[in-house]
Amino acid sequence: MSGHLTVVGIGPGPADWVTPAVSIALAEAQDLFGYAPYIDRVGLRPGQIRHASDNGDELARATAALSAAQSGRNVVVVSGGDPGVFAMASAVCEAIDHGPAAWRSLDVRIEPGVTAMLAAAARIGAPLGADFACLSLSDNLKPWVLIENRLRLTSEAGLVIALYNPASKARPDRIGKALNLLARLRGPQTPVIFATAVGRRDERIDVARLGDADPARADMRTLIIVGCEATKVIERPGLPPLVYSERFAREA
Ligand code: SAH
Repeated sequence: MSGHLTVVGIGPGPADWVTPAVSIALAEAQDLFGYAPYIDRVGLRPGQIRHASDNGDELARATAALSAAQSGRNVVVVSGGDPGVFAMASAVCEAIDHGPAAWRSLDVRIEPGVTAMLAAAARIGAPLGADFACLSLSDNLKPWVLIENRLRLTSEAGLVIALYNPASKARPDRIGKALNLLARLRGPQTPVIFATAVGRRDERIDVARLGDADPARADMRTLIIVGCEATKVIERPGLPPLVYSERFAREA
């Protein structure tokens, strides 16, 4: 019997942000692979086997999951948010690309989820309503100079930018450098949204301006959205502001 492997995204937090397709895949799984807190969030049914790992080696996790699928198991790999956004779907593809030929015949599926930037944007208005880009600030997989270059180019292109992985324990100064650079490129009045633990009990969303944004506000559970020229903040009496990016753009 040949098994199959489904990579699922469980969204940023609440159960009602998990798609029915993901719930079905989770219910039918025999083996669940993933970062321990994500597997804890979905829970286990009787008979299901938990293969929890720490946040490190995604490729090793993907390889183990593919081996289990090849041996006939019905395997689910669990990602937070969407599995294709800085997450396990790429690691699984990479493992197939470099792995044994037999893995290319496996039944592999990816089930999408609500990614952090969409959840964060929805909480505050429509900051991603104009053209936008999305970058991971983690420099584990790419050199910092490339990140800076991409920040520069997206600013030149006038794009709103969503920043994943803003905080690095190993290199805490990086987010400060990125915000400084963006303030120089986009102007100190540019709105910046810090959205932490969106969809969780301790959710916190703040709107600041790049010129006085505090880098210490970002932790590993924070998604940052930096506006562009088209991004406006609507102050509302007794309510949090609404932030949106105008749909109309002038010629550059
Ligand atoms: N696949 C995930 C992203 C994984 S990278 C997704 O699609 O959302 C991890 C980064 O995602 C974190 O550093 C943070 O920037 C962001 N993130 C994940 N969950 C979040 C949440 N609940 N609230 C805010 N940001 C979150």
